[in-house]
Amino acid sequence: MKRISLLGATGSIGIQTLDVIREHPEEFKLVSMSAGRNVELSRKIINEFQPELVSVQEKADADCLRSEFPSIKMVYGHEGLVEAAVFNKADVLINAVLGSVGLKPTLEAIRSGKTIAIANKETLVTAGHIVMGEAKRHKVAILPVDSEHSAIFQALQGEKEKNIERLILTASGGSFRDRTRDELQGVTKSDALNHPNWSMGAKITIDSATMMNKGLEVIEAHWLFSLPYDDISVLLHRESIIHSMVEFHDTSIIAQLGTPDMKVPIQYALTYPDRLPLVTGKRLNLAEVGKLHFTDMDLDRFRCLKFAYDAGRAGGTMPAVMNAANEAAVAAFLDDRINFLQIEDLIEKSMENHDIIENPDLETIQEVDKETRSFVNSLL
Ligand code: NDP
Ligand code: MG
Repeated sequence: MKRISLLGATGSIGIQTLDVIREHPEEFKLVSMSAGRNVELSRKIINEFQPELVSVQEKADADCLRSEFPSIKMVYGHEGLVEAAVFNKADVLINAVLGSVGLKPTLEAIRSGKTIAIANKETLVTAGHIVMGEAKRHKVAILPVDSEHSAIFQALQGEKEKNIERLILTASGGSFRDRTRDELQGVTKSDALNHPNWSMGAKITIDSATMMNKGLEVIEAHWLFSLPYDDISVLLHRESIIHSMVEFHDTSIIAQLGTPDMKVPIQYALTYPDRLPLVTGKRLNLAEVGKLHFTDMDLDRFRCLKFAYDAGRAGGTMPAVMNAANEAAVAAFLDDRINFLQIEDLIEKSMENHDIIENPDLETIQEVDKETRSFVNSLL
């Protein structure tokens, strides 16, 4: 029995993680969880899964839930997130919280020896050097939940790192993949939120439309698989059937395929190195799919992908700046305060405005994150 701490239980990945736990009650038990502001869904999850510790974003919500569930420990805020992450009865932390708030809980969970299943992109993007270093020091595994990294991780089983020529991350292209830059003028929020292949949280759906999502994934791949940026490429693949590939020096390419369903990589992170059936998963019928399409990425069309390569190569605090600017800009877009193309402009300006600090510690990263958000807000 694996005992699970789940951050972001009320989100898109969180809910699908609960589906996986529900399907295998003899294998997995939810012992601690966090939610943000969705108290109603938290209540349902608590009733069904009976975790021993629950963290929510606001104190008032924690007080309210405590009166309803007196036997469950209720905590809140950033400290609550850390408490849920390091809960002593948990073996594994699934970090599916949104945004850079996910970094500190991940680090603390590594230090308390938990296996980490990581969905929260911002953790590795902003502090990959610290996270991977701590994981090594504490002999803790960092298992990818994101479909691309899970695909690469699966393709690498039994392989040697030294034989890798390059990683090929596939990108669906997001909601606007068939539009030119001119056709992006005036696109609406609901157009952007209408992803052709995946059903995900709002922020990552916008990140897919700007291609920043793939940019974040390139930086994550750099840390997870310790490869230089020159050996990480991106290929547009509109069907999202091949979830990513590894090319080896001998020209062989190994790919992982499946219908687009996040439950598959979530479950693999929980069962690795084993596998379990996934009854609610839909089997891939390649004859039905018929054709798969691939196109090279255009970095002028998808500027955010270029920003990410630039930020990753620059290193230091630059990825944290890019990430914070993106979080603030996407929040402003979702709040109808800016148009779609302004997201790119705000990220570009934030990166231009920043003087890189090399090898930053956690406090520096958090400070830079805060400063960048204020900088973006001052431009709105
Ligand atoms: P959602 O927006 O659907 O869910 C986010 C979760 O985080 C919710 O539980 C939310 O709580 C909680 N949350 C948000 N802000 C805070 C905060 N400040 N403090 C505490 N909790 C907070 O996001 P997704 O599930 O789509 O994504 C989660 C992470 O996983 C992201 O980093 C994303 O990039 C990554 N990811 C997502 C994929 C997907 O398919 N969705 C695929 C691969 C990676 P509440 O709703 O209760 O307010
Ligand atoms: Mg992905």
